[in-house]
Amino acid sequence: MSGNTQPASALASPRFCNMGTFMRLPKVTSAKSLDFVIAGAPFDTASSFRSGSRFGPHSIRSISAMLKPNNVILKVNIMEKLTGGDIGDFNVVPGYIHPSYASIEAGVADIVEEGAVPIVLGGDHSITLATLRAVAKKYGPVALVHFDSHSDLCDEVFGEKYNHGTPIRRALEENLIDPAHSIQLGMRGSLYQSDEHDMAEELGMKLVPAHIIRQMSRQAVVSEIIQRVGGKPCFLTFDIDFVDPAYAPGTGTPEVGGFSSFETLDLIRGLKDLHFIGFDVVEVLPAYDHGDITTLLAANIVFEYISILALSKSK
Ligand code: MN
Ligand code: MN
Repeated sequence: MSGNTQPASALASPRFCNMGTFMRLPKVTSAKSLDFVIAGAPFDTASSFRSGSRFGPHSIRSISAMLKPNNVILKVNIMEKLTGGDIGDFNVVPGYIHPSYASIEAGVADIVEEGAVPIVLGGDHSITLATLRAVAKKYGPVALVHFDSHSDLCDEVFGEKYNHGTPIRRALEENLIDPAHSIQLGMRGSLYQSDEHDMAEELGMKLVPAHIIRQMSRQAVVSEIIQRVGGKPCFLTFDIDFVDPAYAPGTGTPEVGGFSSFETLDLIRGLKDLHFIGFDVVEVLPAYDHGDITTLLAANIVFEYISILALSKSK
């Protein structure tokens, strides 16, 4: 454990000072001796509608100065339990997905090889494929918990295999995720094919659309996820468009009829007993945000990730 990974206290140094690492954690150059590492993957040229999530990591880091180390609801002080740092952004190549994937995969591999948990800030959802390649190399096919208003199971978009609408399909084909232990939640909105959500089941996954989640209690949703994942190493990918655009307008392909920020954070807190080996939050598009509400939510989603990791460390 490195001794100096505390975030700067706003009681001594105002929040608007300094250089904008996540939560004002130390800037690190390696994951050595750390429990978790924040990294940015600012790639957005696989977006099918609005682009601009390349600025997601920068804006999430900026507003994350609001975060403090005590999670009052989960009763854990994250920085007493964990050491963590911000390694900056992976060098992506705008417009070129495969060189970007190579950079992201290598960067995430460096983190997981040191035994730290990567927390990646997107970028559009295409980046998750590169992250999963790196984590699956260490852990084998992982259980995927996927919050999104879209299933991202398309085979092709614009005739292309690699797009932000296809990463989960590619991850299945590449045997990076174990479909029998994976679950997708929050899907909604108009579709080209009426049976598009059935595709998840055909591929061996479980998909719970938004209107069904609405009929379930929070505890029932959490139980469904925990039961599905079992004890497997688990990766959580969170597309911010799972959240209703009233709470998260800053995104590329919004769908109405989603979930509130409280419901979102509460669901993530419920997953504290799973064995997480990595996380991301993607599709945050600051140019369409208002008053930083989307970026503030994304920063708090990451705070909940770190909190549930801290609880698992306490056991
Ligand atoms: Mn997505
Ligand atoms: Mn989506």
